[in-house]
Amino acid sequence: MSRTALVTGGTRGIGAAISVALKEAGYTVAANYAGNDEAAAKFTAETGIKTFKWSVADYDACAEGISAVEAELGPVDVLINNAGITRDAPFHKMTREQWQQVIDTNLSGVFNMTHPIWPGMRERKFGRIVTISSINGQKGQFAQVNYAASKAGDLGITKSLAQEGARFGITANAICPGYIGTEMVMAVPEKVRESIISQIPAGRLGTPEEIARCVTFLVSDDAEFINGSTISANGGQFFV
Ligand code: NDP
Repeated sequence: MSRTALVTGGTRGIGAAISVALKEAGYTVAANYAGNDEAAAKFTAETGIKTFKWSVADYDACAEGISAVEAELGPVDVLINNAGITRDAPFHKMTREQWQQVIDTNLSGVFNMTHPIWPGMRERKFGRIVTISSINGQKGQFAQVNYAASKAGDLGITKSLAQEGARFGITANAICPGYIGTEMVMAVPEKVRESIISQIPAGRLGTPEEIARCVTFLVSDDAEFINGSTISANGGQFFV
């Protein structure tokens, strides 16, 4: 029987590429999303992958959503914490709402999703968790105090889960993408994007599929001994 994978924010951008790659690798995939029903319907029509709507920022909604996925597709063996948002502003202009929205989605969202799934993974003695952090969680970024804090926090969660999960057959790893050509990055002004690309040694943005291939490897049986690690996929832009 195929393993079940749940991808948060799995209907657009990097998450969509991850959902598709996992389906192609033989997993039964559930793609969660927040509110863009049109994109989700189009995604299902194109891929046949089931979508499930709830906000990762809401703990109770996550618990209910996960139960719905498990009732339909079986226990979640693989969790990809991909959903994320930006609310950029220089620190002196950053509002408490901008801070809180990003922390609630990008950081608490990882807790909210992992916590209800964790006991089942422990019982079944198997689990794969991959969290999509960011290069800006590693190095910080102008106008992203909220985002960088959330993504750095994701790395702390990952390293701690790795230590707690190892003896139960659970691995937790993170990927820190550099700049990837999704709507999130295409939304920044063209001049800013050009300046971003000029700082990438590879001379181009990454693709969602390149991140998806990292995920597919990390959740595979071949990656059983890789636990608590961070893969930097950024075209040579930053080394830890
Ligand atoms: P997109 O904005 O293209 O897609 C985001 C996805 O997340 C959508 O499916 C969206 O759902 C979903 N989402 C947003 N908020 C929530 C929520 N509260 N609950 C559930 N789902 C939610 O993002 P990217 O593909 O660019 O980014 C994916 C991840 O990769 C993020 O965590 C991002 O921080 C990270 N990342 C991206 C980089 C990049 O260059 N693009 C670089 C480094 C990291 P809906 O469609 O309903 O809105």
